[in-house]
Amino acid sequence: SYAVRLESVSKEYGSGKNAVRALDAVTAAFPRGTFTAVMGPSGSGKSTFLNCAAGLDRPTSGRVMLGDTELSGRPESELTELRRDRIGFVFQAYNLLGALTVEQNVTLPLRLADRKTDQGFLREVLTAVGLGEHVKRRPGELSGGQQQRVAVARALITNPEVVVADEPTGALDTRSSKRVLELLRHVVDGMGQTVLMVTHDPVAASFADSVVFLADGRIAGELTRPTAEQVA
Ligand code: ADP
Ligand code: ADP
Repeated sequence: SYAVRLESVSKEYGSGKNAVRALDAVTAAFPRGTFTAVMGPSGSGKSTFLNCAAGLDRPTSGRVMLGDTELSGRPESELTELRRDRIGFVFQAYNLLGALTVEQNVTLPLRLADRKTDQGFLREVLTAVGLGEHVKRRPGELSGGQQQRVAVARALITNPEVVVADEPTGALDTRSSKRVLELLRHVVDGMGQTVLMVTHDPVAASFADSVVFLADGRIAGELTRPTAEQVA
């Protein structure tokens, strides 16, 4: 079964002669428990693709399915709730709150959703991301790689079906990137989640089960079991 499906999804920004077609009738499906990288030149529609898949952007036409739930056509309030309950987000800029500790940052999505923190699961997630000893630190005291792992932990704390990551390693050195990618791999293999990741980095893409290539808002190619050499 599929965690996410896009059926003939188009997205236009602006209108008239200023209209930009960021996605052009894209159809794609992502089986549960798989890790997919989305690649393509700047402006090819990668972020729009990810945002439509995760209910952050509304397609101009077409359907987006999250499991059996259709996202298209829902009011913003319902989309907000669906995102909060079922999707984890990881961005390049981490979006951590500097005044909060690691633990408070990680558990923030639970507080926003009025959900209790399961201390056992919190421990498990913090251990999985290798931050068990840093729970009381603040983001400013951590390296970029550690901060990104806090962001991944925060994305996982609600146990979402789908994790979307936009350039999660874009700001990281090789070693930190590798840890974050191994962590995303673990999320898929060990926790059964479905990960969609936008990346420019062939090495990052080689951690995925498959790669979708976008060009001018269309799917220009796909690879399964990609190697970094094939993707570059
Ligand atoms: P990528 O992530 O591959 O760089 P994007 O999805 O960000 O591509 O953008 C695809 C196209 O849509 C580009 O031409 C971009 O300028 C345009 N675009 C993206 N977001 C907006 C927006 N909010 N308003 C207008 N144009 C946008
Ligand atoms: P990337 O290439 O990494 O996807 P961009 O710098 O293209 O990032 O876009 C960053 C943000 O700006 C995205 O949220 C995108 O939707 C928005 N954006 C991109 N292009 C435009 C545009 N032409 N007008 C307005 N917003 C845009």
